Amino acid sequence: MKATSRMFTLLLLSMFLLVGLSVAGSWEIDHVNQVATASHSNEFPVGAKRGEQSLAIERIRNWIMIVQGLSLIACGALYALGIRLRNKARREQREREAADLALEMRVEERTRELRKEVEERRLIEHLHRGQRRIVEMLSAPDDLKPEDILRFLADTVAARNQGWECALHLIDRRGKSLRLAACSEVTERLKGYFESVGTEYADSPECQASASGETHIVEHLNEIGLEWSEVLAASGVFSAWSIPFSANGSSSLAGTLTVYSRSRRKPSAHELEMSESAAKLAALIIEHRRLRSELIHNAYLDLMTGLPNRRGGVEAIDAAIVKADGHRGSVAVIWIDINRFKRINDQYGHEAGDHVLRTIAERLRRSPLNTGTVARMGEDEFLVVIPGTEDSLDTVEISRRLGTAIAKPIYAGAARIMVSACIGSCIYPKDGGTAEILERNADFAMLRAKSSGESYCVFSPGMSEEANEAMEIEESLGVALEKNYLRLVYQPLYATDGELTGFEALLRFHHPRLGNIPPARFIPVAEETRLIVPIGNWVLREACQQLRSWHEAGLPRVRMAVNISVLQFARDDFADTVARTFSECGLEPEHLILELTESVIMEDFASVVSQMNLLRQCGVHIALDDFGTGYSSLSYIHRIPVDMLKIDRSFVERLADPDGTRPIVEAVIAMAKHLGLHVVAEGVETVEQQHILQQAGCQGFQGYLFERPLPPDEAESCLRASITTPFAKPTIQTGGGGLAVA
Ligand code: C2E
Ligand code: CA
Ligand code: CA
Repeated sequence: MKATSRMFTLLLLSMFLLVGLSVAGSWEIDHVNQVATASHSNEFPVGAKRGEQSLAIERIRNWIMIVQGLSLIACGALYALGIRLRNKARREQREREAADLALEMRVEERTRELRKEVEERRLIEHLHRGQRRIVEMLSAPDDLKPEDILRFLADTVAARNQGWECALHLIDRRGKSLRLAACSEVTERLKGYFESVGTEYADSPECQASASGETHIVEHLNEIGLEWSEVLAASGVFSAWSIPFSANGSSSLAGTLTVYSRSRRKPSAHELEMSESAAKLAALIIEHRRLRSELIHNAYLDLMTGLPNRRGGVEAIDAAIVKADGHRGSVAVIWIDINRFKRINDQYGHEAGDHVLRTIAERLRRSPLNTGTVARMGEDEFLVVIPGTEDSLDTVEISRRLGTAIAKPIYAGAARIMVSACIGSCIYPKDGGTAEILERNADFAMLRAKSSGESYCVFSPGMSEEANEAMEIEESLGVALEKNYLRLVYQPLYATDGELTGFEALLRFHHPRLGNIPPARFIPVAEETRLIVPIGNWVLREACQQLRSWHEAGLPRVRMAVNISVLQFARDDFADTVARTFSECGLEPEHLILELTESVIMEDFASVVSQMNLLRQCGVHIALDDFGTGYSSLSYIHRIPVDMLKIDRSFVERLADPDGTRPIVEAVIAMAKHLGLHVVAEGVETVEQQHILQQAGCQGFQGYLFERPLPPDEAESCLRASITTPFAKPTIQTGGGGLAVA
């Protein structure tokens, strides 16, 4: 611009110069003419000189005229150029001004945009702050009510704009009407509208949004002329928009969030977006509440069986006590423990185990006598709480029926699983005044049933002490091996001719405070805690070492029978453990007899049989212990690879009774013989029993009649004595194919 104006000034100057020149030229011409005239008239001489002079003057005049002409042309050209330049400058100026204006407008527009952006950002931050606070509220341990959090949300939305109010409505359970859950602080009148809108104004924005599932905006609600819009307008509300929301993960609507504006307006896209975000937050709060109540519900529920859990069980006792107190009633508390459940899990897998538990839960729940509550108290423990009167609650009968329901076979895939239970019971108020005491006493009674090999037991005072003992036993069993609380005693086994053929190793547990504890009490505990596996391995090694030392001492090469728990036998490495033990002890495998109870056979039959075959191939003998007490012994005995049957003491005991077990025992012995099995009778206490057994063809005896279980040194003496005297004590003479006590 400056350069153009400078150029323009220069041109003007040049033009003035040229005009000046041409004026000067004209003046010069005039001057020359004057001079010429003057010289013509006065001073110049006539003749040639005068002709030369006029020629020169003529020339000058011509020159001057030419210069004058040229100056004028130049002047014209310069003028034209100057005009053009000036126009161009003006145009440029105009363009610049237009550009400046456009820039200003753009700047203004951008400023507006930025202001809007800042405002929006503030809005977002406002909402984010609210959101953060809501999340904090939701995760707060002090457990705020969801209504309080929704209220905070409504306040957050309303506080965003001075002319705004916010209400949150939830759809009732039947999905029919809206109920006010929370709103920002408003006048009573407006609140009255919020409270009744869901039931009274079906065409209100809230109801329309919840019915259509879409955002509903009303810009000029005072122009609608409906009842609801008039109520709102009377409260100073002129526009409203309602946004429906569903709880996360659910397709059905949960409620609406509505913004009420005191200025007549349509929400901007951003305000709408913000309102929608707030509605999503409301959904989150609702979802959180649902999950929380589910969690609380689950805290009292066992998810696997659907029964109340331990907490629920204790609450059920508490509730029954409160009810019973009201009419002087009673409550039966029954504790059920599934026998050897761990083994079911090990043997058939956890899925089958779960199926067993679910089936038992269902059977208990459906039990017709059960008018109370069934709860799952532990992995394989159930509790039944039955209200009634002391006379009506026959806990023995109830326990018996529950036990029968449980004992029916359970099918899991191809497996047929037999389950039994130990059941203990007690009665409120007789046996305890609180849920805790009743639960404990029913448990004590159950433990008593377990330790005495019974299925049911009713609580009696004094059991608590015993139960405490059981706990003490359990604790000390864990350290029994390292603290040397365990010992083995050996009970001789005899052939019919009185020859001592072997010993059965029997475990003894000496507790430092409780003294000697019988195996019937501690073996079930060891099995429950699975301590029987390391303990059983110790028994095996100890018995093998003992036998080896007797062999080394040159005593008769008798056999050693060792009792094997089903938990030991179920282990894959059991055959290896056995093989390693006798090879380490330097013992011939054929000197070892493994005594297995019938319960082993009830496990996975095929794998049990293959394990037995493996052991027998090594040369180990296998005896079936307690024969006759188990399930359907006779039906499978021909299919299992055993060498020996040990007829259970309970059969021997009633052998001589008029309606005793003699026919059964005779049939068993005959069948065993037929199968080529060696038969031993255990628990032989009388000569009469011995006679009957011998006549029936029994080939071995064990019992107090001959010898009690003996400590190692006495057992050794017995073995030594047997070289010369069969049936060393008491003296038994053989004769005429029979045996007689001397
Ligand atoms: P069991 O294998 O049937 O052992 C025979 C039981 O009968 C022994 O009781 C023995 O002392 C007892 N007994 C022997 N003869 C007579 C008799 O004439 N009359 C009477 N009334 N009883 C007699 P104990 O030693 O108390 O053992 C009980 C059970 O404990 C055993 O029964 C066995 O099942 C288990 N047990 C003992 N030691 C072990 C062991 O080391 N491992 C495992 N897994 N179980 C064992
Ligand atoms: Ca045995
Ligand atoms: Ca036995």
